[in-house]
Amino acid sequence: MAFTLPALPYSYGALEPHIDAQTMEIHYTKHHQAYLNNLNNAIKGTDADNLGIEEIIKNISKYPMPVRNNGGGLWNHTFFWESMAPNSGGEPSGVLGVAIDAAFGSFTKFKEDFSNAGITRFGSGWAWLVVQDGALKIGSTPNQDNPLMDISELKGSPILGLDVWEHAYYLKYQNRRPDYIGAWWNTINWEQVSRRFHDAK
Ligand code: MN
Repeated sequence: MAFTLPALPYSYGALEPHIDAQTMEIHYTKHHQAYLNNLNNAIKGTDADNLGIEEIIKNISKYPMPVRNNGGGLWNHTFFWESMAPNSGGEPSGVLGVAIDAAFGSFTKFKEDFSNAGITRFGSGWAWLVVQDGALKIGSTPNQDNPLMDISELKGSPILGLDVWEHAYYLKYQNRRPDYIGAWWNTINWEQVSRRFHDAK
């Protein structure tokens, strides 16, 4: 069974002005679609053809590089779209808000540490907030790797992820990755992140 592209949960322009419509459209219809197509080609006729994407991701060391890159690309982008929503951002409330304060000192400090994880990831990759052995941890991964992968240096259940590939921001922000990251905070769907936190604990 070939994988299919999950629907984008909002319109291309829904996250304006923080993420522009053209970037969203290209990111979803070209990049996410290409990861999907390349993954389907890479697993066609192999045992992986009958597995779910998370099962493949969690055992990624068993697979060749095209499955790692494109399977990661498929999973990461679906996770990324769901991490954002129109008219969102702000600060998380409830259990997650309390846990972030406890783990990082304050939301401001968390925001600074997470932003730095994205800013300092050399080249292409992702910044993550994960639940690792019950505790919140910030880190980053290269390329399309993610913390669910058995080969990942950063391990845990991701609850928030940020794409810092240039294709995620270059049209609007050019080389200014910190500006993109600063604007992205206005798009975070904290209700979704809180649900993931609840499930991960
Ligand atoms: Mn991307």
